[in-house]
Amino acid sequence: MRSKLLVLLALVALVIVAACAPAPAPAVTAAPPTAAPAAPKPTDAPKPTAVPPTAAPKPTEAPKVLKGELNLLCTPQQVWCEGMKKEFEAKYPGVTVNFIRLSSGEALTRIRNEKANPQFDIWWGGPIDSFIAAKAEGLLEPYKSPGQANIIDPKLMMDNDPNPQWVGIYVGSIGFATNTKQTAIKPPTSYEDLIKPEMKGQIAIAHPASSGTSYTFMCSILQIKGEKDGWEYMKKFASNVLIWTKSGAAPGNNVGLGEASVGVVFSHDIVKNIDVDKFPMALSFPSEGTGYEIGGMGLIKGAKNPELAKAWYDWALEAKTQELGKKYTAYQGLTIKGAQPPKPELLQVKLINYNFDYCGKNKTAFVDKFSNEIAAAALAK
Ligand code: PLP
Repeated sequence: MRSKLLVLLALVALVIVAACAPAPAPAVTAAPPTAAPAAPKPTDAPKPTAVPPTAAPKPTEAPKVLKGELNLLCTPQQVWCEGMKKEFEAKYPGVTVNFIRLSSGEALTRIRNEKANPQFDIWWGGPIDSFIAAKAEGLLEPYKSPGQANIIDPKLMMDNDPNPQWVGIYVGSIGFATNTKQTAIKPPTSYEDLIKPEMKGQIAIAHPASSGTSYTFMCSILQIKGEKDGWEYMKKFASNVLIWTKSGAAPGNNVGLGEASVGVVFSHDIVKNIDVDKFPMALSFPSEGTGYEIGGMGLIKGAKNPELAKAWYDWALEAKTQELGKKYTAYQGLTIKGAQPPKPELLQVKLINYNFDYCGKNKTAFVDKFSNEIAAAALAK
């Protein structure tokens, strides 16, 4: 009996000691087989939202210090490209931005030719028709920036693909610039004005193969008139053109300097010619409605510095960044909620229902047709 009592006491003591002892850390082998992190797939990684709010921040959650070189393909005007380079470098002092300014068509050709060995990390600016064409050719990298949640009109101003490849960063409408020192030619107020006989040898416009501005004009015509009549119109229009430029904004300078009477240019560039360059110039629009652009941005597929490119992408979608355009004589409408556009009146004009998908997917075919069948003939005259 006594020995039974001693055994019982010993057992009770053992239970008490075990209950008070700290719980042993679970051995790795004690985890059930399903919890073992055997070669986890990327999707097995815990999502940030799974971290309880009270958890101590992990080192990876600290703000990143970016370092290195970002190679930017920049399509807006040189002054704005230079300004944005400086602004970005001021925000990220460890980063140097190298940029080349190329018109939309040239930029598309360049990234197409460099597909196997991309030299640029990000393409910023120029109408989205070219970004849609680039996406169709597999030249862009999908990315969903947090800033896309603040796009004013997401249906129109961003790629609505579940893996979006471009986003809108500004908006601009096509206008006509007329030199007001000459009095023979009145500011055009319709597309028909541009193909009148008295307009022969008076017009400056960029070539649609190199310029997104000029392509926006041409694709607007093809939509307003339909392809058959639109190409007929383009033939007549081309025969009135005196100067074909490479860059879309250049005809504003030709008109301002009196080298041509009328230029077809984005209206925000005409406002810059009037307000900043002080050219004697009037801005007018076609009463039928004018074509417009969403200026785009996209990551280059296979880029060598994707982290820096994403930092630029996120930054370009901040309201404060978009408002910087004005400082560098860029007067476009903006795409982010809360950003104050410098010239809101430029988008109060009558716009056509521009079909970006149609113009983007047909860009190469339309440009080839124009180059082979119309411009060659017009230039040969
Ligand atoms: N520069 C400015 C100020 C623009 O608004 C645009 C249109 O996106 C461009 C350049 C496009 O240039 P380009 O017509 O030479 O392709």
